Amino acid sequence: MELDQYLKINGNNMKIVLMTILLTACSGIKLQDTEPVAEVTAEPTKVSVVYSQQTITVQNGKAKYINFQTPQEDGSYALDCTEQNSPKPLKQKIPYIVKSNVGVTYYAESYFSRAKKHFCYSEGQLVLEVNVSRFPYKKEHLKVSKKKIDLSKKDLARVIRERKITSAIYKKSVPYLLFDKPFIVPLDSFITSHYGNQRIFNNKKRSQHLGNDFRAKVGVEIPSSNRGKVVFVGDLFYTGNVVIIDHGLNLFSLYAHLSKILVTEGTILNQGDIVGLSGMTGRVSGPHLHWGIKMNGHNIDGFSLAEESKKHFKSYESSL
Ligand SMILES: [Zn+2]
Repeated sequence: MELDQYLKINGNNMKIVLMTILLTACSGIKLQDTEPVAEVTAEPTKVSVVYSQQTITVQNGKAKYINFQTPQEDGSYALDCTEQNSPKPLKQKIPYIVKSNVGVTYYAESYFSRAKKHFCYSEGQLVLEVNVSRFPYKKEHLKVSKKKIDLSKKDLARVIRERKITSAIYKKSVPYLLFDKPFIVPLDSFITSHYGNQRIFNNKKRSQHLGNDFRAKVGVEIPSSNRGKVVFVGDLFYTGNVVIIDHGLNLFSLYAHLSKILVTEGTILNQGDIVGLSGMTGRVSGPHLHWGIKMNGHNIDGFSLAEESKKHFKSYESSL
């Protein structure tokens, strides 16, 4: 083979080799560029949501804000709970709302609860395991005259009658939340009697104080703790003039011993709207505000609700 002919052939070979390298390189680049895009457009990602499970610890008489993942559509639902070692479901279901696959509710533990564990289910799926621990509520020993603690037949009949009225009210909460910000404590004054204090009269008769008493002279304006609907106004034996507000999802607030009620049943109140003026109506020894929270059938400590609802509306808090 002549030298110039050899170079020509090998030159052509070189061209072929170079083109091959270039094509491979180009196709390589092309593949890297297009593949991820093709994946996204060809197969849109479908995330299937499943129930999430969590374990919480709640003290008796306190509330907890709960949220969990759920495959359910937006709407109102309820959790079924059971007690450890008991197959029987608890009487009260816990209502919750679902928005964008997140279930939201408040869990309330009874003041009287001694159970070690509760299990709560949605559609048979375990979503909540509750460890109940006991809060060391204070005991007060009081000596009082017998007639001060024993009710007359007439008064007892009245108390029973009124209890029926209020328990019917507590069964008719709206199945969604009427509020969109954390609960506020109605007054910033001294607490004259804390939630949960046990009063033992004459070493035998016991009663529990299932609300918080705020020092207030007669006539102080009492604001609503949160947005809600006035579902009861009236004069009851123990509470005197009282206003009960439904905030939705079995969550109620109560303002007792008022000297004057300034709202009417059926009115939607915003947080801070004045429900009435403090006073000393009902069974009291002096003027004060008794602030109660009823949640899912239990009287719980309003301060725990105020704290827990801050977790619920974190974004609201940070925008303040
Ligand atoms: Zn009280």
